This record gives sequence, structure tokens and C-alpha cells, in this order.
Amino acid sequence: MTLSRATVDEPIVGLTNLLGLDEAGMVGFVESLGQKRFRARQLLKWLYHNDVRQFDDMTDLSKAFRASLREKAEVRLPTVEHAHISTDGTCKWLFKVDGANAVETVFIPTDDRGTLCVSSQVGCALDCSFCATARQGFNRNLSTAEIVAQVYLAAELLRTEAYQQVGFRRITNIVMMGMGEPLANFRNLVPALNLMLDDNAWGLSKRRVTVSTSGIVPAIDRLRESVDCSLAVSLHAPDDDLRNELVPINRKYPIKDLMDACQRYVSRDHKTHIMFEYVMLAGVNDKPEHARALAKLVKSVPCKVNMIPFNPFPGSGYTVSSEDTINRFWDVLNRHRIRALKRRTRGDDIDAACGQLAGDVTDKSRRAAKFVEPRYGETRP
Ligand code: SAH
Repeated sequence: MTLSRATVDEPIVGLTNLLGLDEAGMVGFVESLGQKRFRARQLLKWLYHNDVRQFDDMTDLSKAFRASLREKAEVRLPTVEHAHISTDGTCKWLFKVDGANAVETVFIPTDDRGTLCVSSQVGCALDCSFCATARQGFNRNLSTAEIVAQVYLAAELLRTEAYQQVGFRRITNIVMMGMGEPLANFRNLVPALNLMLDDNAWGLSKRRVTVSTSGIVPAIDRLRESVDCSLAVSLHAPDDDLRNELVPINRKYPIKDLMDACQRYVSRDHKTHIMFEYVMLAGVNDKPEHARALAKLVKSVPCKVNMIPFNPFPGSGYTVSSEDTINRFWDVLNRHRIRALKRRTRGDDIDAACGQLAGDVTDKSRRAAKFVEPRYGETRP
């Protein structure tokens, strides 16, 4: 029997979705079925090394064990509500996680790497002034299985022929930069990160797994104590007045506290650095004096600054800084010996760019639309 339940919308009551279990969780689960703990590692390898999610194909498990898995467990993936491939190869999916909720997952390929941008919540409560997801409000946290399943399903889809033209199709990097604030969903996030990092599962290096946060200071400390992964911090402003306006969580955790937490985060590993994200908003945070203040602020923390062009959406009230302004900002940082990257927008023809992920979700009329076959752009860069 195959796991035909794997793509149903609603959980089958009483079945454990194995995608929600990291190694420790899997050990507990197999032991609850009367199995030895090494079975957990076997299961993980079938799922994540061999990409097999049908219990009957897991040939080194006994028939009795497979029967009890069928009875107690499932490997449930979300359904694909919408799939789109950009002219630059960026893939955007709308994954339906239950009858009422969907999240976006984006794959960004280059010549030698594939970055998957994963959502942690349906909507977001943090209300950053320039972010489209914020407009949607907060619906709910994703479960561990729903976070992990985005990676699992994206990888599975990318292996299919429909995605041949994407070019690079392997997931080499994962960034928790989709919808939601990952550190506000800490409990479900950690086992998902464990699976991304665990050699028995995806086994990505800690430099290739990045949590992006708007700056929930106590959770940054908890993350440092719980998981060894990379950290990106959405800074966006060099002083509290401006940051209070752009990233309201700053009123609770002001810049000084945030910087101290960043300092503590990097102190455990001298080779690590923080990625500070800085969205370029015309006339708001993009003046040379902002760049100077930013350089002064971050210079004591090993870091890179990632300058993200603002991706406009209707009613945002902001526009993106001009190329000249972005270049000038970069020059100032560079003069102060701060490493800074001018990020290109990817997938903007399909609204897959940062902060636009909620576009289709909020628009309920479009959301009701059926599954759209992947569409390929005419040209590739
Ligand atoms: N909540 C987390 C992760 C999700 S957002 C965080 O705040 O870090 C991922 C990144 O996209 C963040 O740096 C966020 O500030 C940025 N972003 C949000 N809306 C954007 C927009 N319209 N244009 C450019 N970047 C945006």
C-alpha cells in the first residue's frame, strides 16, 4: 500500500506526521511503537537521503514495523495551490497547509546554488511598515511538519521534469525569510532546523541554514543556545527613532539590546558573522548620514550588510531607492570597511521577491484560483 494520504489537506486524526519529528522526536516515536531507537535513523534516511516517503518502499524495515507505521504515521505534504517559474528561474509556490491557510515558498537558483526561502507562520504579527505580509495580519504558527514539508515538497517538485528548465535544481541553502517571524514560532522552528542540519536528514552546513529575525532579543539568545545555524537580523534603520517606525518590535527590544544579542550570538564561534538586512527605502533610510550611522553601529559586530531593494506593493507608501543612492550608500559603508552586498531582486516578475509573498494570499479571489501549471519565461539571463 502506498501513502496516498500524503497530500490530503487535513491531518488524519491520530496519525503522526513524520516530517514533524527531528531525530530525538523520531526516537521517541519508534520507541512508542516498541521498536529499537536505531530505527529512527533508518526512517530519517529513507525520508531525507533516499527521498522515499512510502512506508512499503522502506525495504529494510520489517513487515510488522511497516504495518504499524501505516497504522500510526503518515508523511503528509501540503497541496500545491499555485506554482510559478520566473524568467530568471526563481520558482514560487503557494502551498496550502489546511482548508483556510496557504503559505509561500520560493526557490532561487544561481549557477552553483539553490536557496529555498521558507515560511514560518501564516501571516505575521510584527507589522513592519514596508512588508506585505504584515498587511495580512497574523493567522497562525506553522507546525514543525509544515515548515519541513515546504522543503520536502519543493525538493520533490524540483526533481520532476516540469522544472527541468530551472537550471540548478538542488536545495543547497535554506533561509527562514518567507512569511512570518521564525523566532516567534520558536518551539516549532527548532526541530525543523535540526532536520535541516542533521547528517541523518538534509545535513546542510550551519552556514547554509539561516534564520532571519526582526529582532526578538530573548529568542536570539535561546536560538544560540539551541541550534548552531546562521543568523540574519532585519535592521533597516541605524537609530531607534527610525527603527521604531519601520520595525515596531524595536520599541520592545531597542537597537542597543539587539546589538548586544548579536554580539553574544557571534561570540560562540569566531568564524561566524551576522547578516544585517537593510531594505532601501527612498528618502527614508537611504541617506549618506544613515550609512555613516549604520557603519558606526555595526562595526563592532562581525557582519555583512545585505542591502535589499525595497519591493513595492500597492498602498505601501514607499518607493525603492535609486541605483545611484544605493551605490552611494554602499560606498559609505565600504569606506568604513563594512562589507556590504547590493542584492539584486529575483523573481520580481512573479512577485516572489522579499516582502511580496503575501500578495496572492491576501487576495482571496485569486487565491480561490486552481492550481496553475508552471509557466516558463521566454528568456533566461
Ligand atoms: N520576519 C523575519 C523574516 C521574514 S522577512 C524578518 O523580519 O527578518 C525577510 C526579509 O525581507 C526581512 O529582512 C524583511 O524585512 C524583508 N522585507 C519585507 N518586506 C520587504 C519589501 N517589501 N521589500 C524588501 N524587503 C522586504
